[in-house]
Amino acid sequence: MVTVTAAEQPILPWLEPHWHRLSSYLQQQRVPQALLFHGPQGVGKRTIAKQFATSLLCVNRQPDYSSCGQCRSCRLLQAGTHPDFLRICPEEPGKPITINQIREIIAGMNLAPQYETYRVIFIESAEQMNNPAANAFLKYLEEPTQRSIIFLITEHLTKLPATIVSRCQKMFVNTPDKQISLAWLTRQNPAYAPEFLLALVNGAPLQAVKTADESLILRRKTCFQNWLAVAQNKRHPIEIAQEWLELPEQPLIFWLTSWLIDSIRCRFNLSNQRFYNLDFLPALQELSQGLDLKGTFTLYDLLLSAREQHSSQINKQLMWEEILVQWYQINRS
Ligand SMILES: [Zn+2]
Repeated sequence: MVTVTAAEQPILPWLEPHWHRLSSYLQQQRVPQALLFHGPQGVGKRTIAKQFATSLLCVNRQPDYSSCGQCRSCRLLQAGTHPDFLRICPEEPGKPITINQIREIIAGMNLAPQYETYRVIFIESAEQMNNPAANAFLKYLEEPTQRSIIFLITEHLTKLPATIVSRCQKMFVNTPDKQISLAWLTRQNPAYAPEFLLALVNGAPLQAVKTADESLILRRKTCFQNWLAVAQNKRHPIEIAQEWLELPEQPLIFWLTSWLIDSIRCRFNLSNQRFYNLDFLPALQELSQGLDLKGTFTLYDLLLSAREQHSSQINKQLMWEEILVQWYQINRS
């Protein structure tokens, strides 16, 4: 069974044990004053901490102690404007968290919470507190305000003062078991190459998704440049077909189809239609004027059958060649 914090993200599978521990605090009505989430990058520390903070603030908590996702408190959190959720992080990556940032938050803590639940201080990259900030924070930790729960998140536990660490309930989020990560990544996007990705990011699944998405964005751009180069007779279709053998087929077929559909829409001035590729629109607009229409629909059929056959044993080199040669030809009319 998948644990779900209603209407929000499900609990990541490798974080289920963490969630059970956190929700048991609520069940026993003994939520620690300060929780310290530590572990490597990209394993979900911030995700699980935020999910628990959301539950603390929810005014209509579910029987499994997850947040409802619907109440005013949940909606304010989603919008990033909850008055009882106070977040601190370095103003720029690598910069320290300053005493002024800490003082500002502590001053706010002396006011009563706006809602009848808890109040949350959420400190990200906590190890970045400089000495004065850490001292001011420690003083607060020694005499915290009631019903205020402090979340500290760090990748570098040993850089935090021991005096702070000793006052927190620690929660270690480790790199998940490889099989769990592989299964989860494959469910996120079948086009990922999960084994390769995980090796690249030391097994951290969220980091893997981030890396994959960034590289997919880059690939899409490169492929579009190739697509243009074939139309403009600057690159040979067979050569590009060879290069595309290295790429994941599913996103590539989708990209090509979307470029062609947008070209057809441009050609017929269907400006009230939504385009898939707003970023490439000027180039698509320009190309669309010279397209041979009959050949364009033949290409569309080729793409549709590629989509149906891509997982079968067909010759991929021939498939890409046929598509790219047709694309080359319809730009020659
Ligand atoms: Zn709620």
